[in-house]
Amino acid sequence: MGRVALVTGGSRGIGEAISKKLKADGYTVAATYAGNDDAAAKFSEATGIKTYKWNVADYESSKAGIAQVEADLGPIEVVVANAGITRDAPFHKMTPEQWHEVIDTNLTGVFNTIHPIWPGMRERKFGRVIVISSINGQKGQFAQVNYAATKSGDLGIVKSLAQEGARAGITANAVCPGYIGTEMVMAVPEKVRESIIGQIPAGRLGEPEEIARCVAFLASDESGFINGSTISANGAQFFV
Ligand code: NDP
Repeated sequence: MGRVALVTGGSRGIGEAISKKLKADGYTVAATYAGNDDAAAKFSEATGIKTYKWNVADYESSKAGIAQVEADLGPIEVVVANAGITRDAPFHKMTPEQWHEVIDTNLTGVFNTIHPIWPGMRERKFGRVIVISSINGQKGQFAQVNYAATKSGDLGIVKSLAQEGARAGITANAVCPGYIGTEMVMAVPEKVRESIIGQIPAGRLGEPEEIARCVAFLASDESGFINGSTISANGAQFFV
């Protein structure tokens, strides 16, 4: 049995591709989701990957869910904090609810996911923490003050964790995808999507598998000196 890897939001989109890639690489994978039972059941049936349902925004649920995963599969050695949402609106129309929902899921959710796993990684002197941030955390984005704040914050989390974990054999890194053809992006109106694609020098959206390969690289035992780094995978969509 390979190392145990936990992928939050691992049943759909980018997370699904990450779960499948890690399984193909020999990890024992646990994939979490929020509430889409049908998608999770289909995913689990097709892949044989065990799924777990909890809300990453809730600390006690995360802690209990993680304890269950470890009881079922063993200590988590690779954690991929991938679950994320958007609630877009121009700032003057953004409601406090839209702000808090995104902060609670994308930023506090990352804390809630890593924090219960961290002490075990320190004790065992090995860990791989990977956070899925975003190009929009690097450059900001119209109508995404909430989302960009969380994704920039995620970069601060990994840079700080990298310093705290380095002596304990733990690495913490981020992947910043550009626009990837998942439901999150396909939900954007077609006209807006076309204009987004027009801004990508590669002339296309990325594939979830392209992000999964970045994660697999960072998760591997051989990537131990890569710590506090960010891999940008965005089709040359530079942001300065
Ligand atoms: P999807 O909307 O396709 O999938 C999101 C996944 O996260 C689902 O499994 C969903 O569960 C889960 N999830 C959402 N909220 C919660 C929650 N509160 N608790 C637990 N699980 C939750 O998203 P993507 O695959 O597009 O995005 C994955 C990550 O990549 C996100 O962090 C996103 O910000 C980031 N990203 C995406 C980009 C893109 O172009 N798609 C670009 C840059 C970054 P359920 O199925 O139950 O709803």
